[in-house]
Amino acid sequence: MVMRLPMPSINPLDLVDAIIAERTHEPNRTFFRTIAVEWKQRIDVYVANGGSPAHVSTWPAIMGKAKSFKNLYSHPADGSAQGAMLSDLRNHDLDICPACGSPTPPETLDHYLPKGKFPHFAVTPANLTPMCDPCQRRKKATTGDVVSPRFFIHPYFDAFTVDQILQLTIAPPFVTPTFTLVPHPNLQAGEAALVTTHLRELEIARRYVRFFRNEHRRLLRNVSNMRKNGIDVPANIGAWQTGHAHPTKDSWHHLFYDAVTRNVDLQDYLSNGVLPPYP
Ligand SMILES: [Zn+2]
Repeated sequence: MVMRLPMPSINPLDLVDAIIAERTHEPNRTFFRTIAVEWKQRIDVYVANGGSPAHVSTWPAIMGKAKSFKNLYSHPADGSAQGAMLSDLRNHDLDICPACGSPTPPETLDHYLPKGKFPHFAVTPANLTPMCDPCQRRKKATTGDVVSPRFFIHPYFDAFTVDQILQLTIAPPFVTPTFTLVPHPNLQAGEAALVTTHLRELEIARRYVRFFRNEHRRLLRNVSNMRKNGIDVPANIGAWQTGHAHPTKDSWHHLFYDAVTRNVDLQDYLSNGVLPPYP
């Protein structure tokens, strides 16, 4: 993901014990008690491997009971252990999607490994991350392929996302520029490859263009007014960039102002060029 998130604090193995203790009706009572040890071992493997589909396997033996796992997520009973965990995960203050960086509150929870193929991780906190609807519609049950076993950045495990991982370029003509978003040049090759598949699979390029076009029009309008009023343009643009650097430098606002401040020609155009009257 483009935004690193803290791992949910609840202990996933204690949660499994609580869920199993709450299964009092047969046949689920016996079933969950029978698979408890292996279920917890598989969660340990998930956490040890950062949820990578290259290292975390499916569990064919429980697929006949997949619905019972998925119901834990879809229909948690009032007061249930996993219901409280899900409420906590949904009760966040994020107004930026951690997966794409768009200024959209992430109103759904995504299963990093999809619950259809991995029902035993349907209520594993490390497998559940806030995501915006446009991202989730594109991700669906995708995980990777033969060439790239892992398509998506994991917000709890991919520590490199604490730094800026994307870089925007704004190319002239500056009245109607072209925008290009690529992995940040400071990334290592493996990190850049992961960012590339992440951008591709979530179709982030197709989705950001309208935002950047509008933000650029707003910038031209603001700069036009600032110049009329004798306000220092570069200093203000720098301040806007700094202001948008939290909670992530990969928010679309920050990427835009980072691109403006890095672009000497654009800075010159904004300070001295002929701005359009109604951009
Ligand atoms: Zn998103």
